[in-house]
Amino acid sequence: MAGKLDRIIVIDLEATCWDGPTPPDQESEIIEVGVCMLDVKTGERSQKQSIIVKPERSRVSEFCTELTTLTQADVEHGVSFEHACQILRRKFRVRDRTWASYGDYDRRQFIKQCDQKGIKYPLSATHINVKNMMAVLYGLHSEVGLVQAMAIMDLPLEGIHHRGHDDAWNIAALLAKMLQQWRNGH
Ligand code: AMP
Ligand code: MG
Repeated sequence: MAGKLDRIIVIDLEATCWDGPTPPDQESEIIEVGVCMLDVKTGERSQKQSIIVKPERSRVSEFCTELTTLTQADVEHGVSFEHACQILRRKFRVRDRTWASYGDYDRRQFIKQCDQKGIKYPLSATHINVKNMMAVLYGLHSEVGLVQAMAIMDLPLEGIHHRGHDDAWNIAALLAKMLQQWRNGH
């Protein structure tokens, strides 16, 4: 259960991927956990971090590098998924706080990978899907991608899109602006 509501942890995952179906000898695994803390009252963002994770059953394809900029050499220096979970627990206290992501992909991938590796799910059960929240709050016809969402909210897309820490940073700005507008009665 998420206790403290003063700060929300925004998480964005990157994973091994391919142009088309997953090759039979591989599986999509997390290669980056991007994190950013959002102060709910002030909208201030802090503790932006990229945790690079070394995949065990897949390699970073050329397509994946084109998408994320991450290479196989980059992820070779990464920590284990278990260690990444430990950082989330110890440094970011993820069990005690609400967390947010853009869409439900990150939550589902986390659950799947914890199951596969026999690791205890480190995150709180209290999750905000910012993509869905944005579409519902603003009466959009359907959910939109992050680039479009930032444009709708008149926010700059900072850093490299499809890098976990930069995506988390931008998602936090989006959530902050939604909260601010709600408070101001718009
Ligand atoms: P994102 O947070 O949008 O950067 O995406 C998270 C992960 O979803 C990526 O690291 C990829 O594994 C996968 N993904 C996102 N977009 C694509 C795409 N166009 N094709 C294949 N996989 C993708
Ligand atoms: Mg991303």
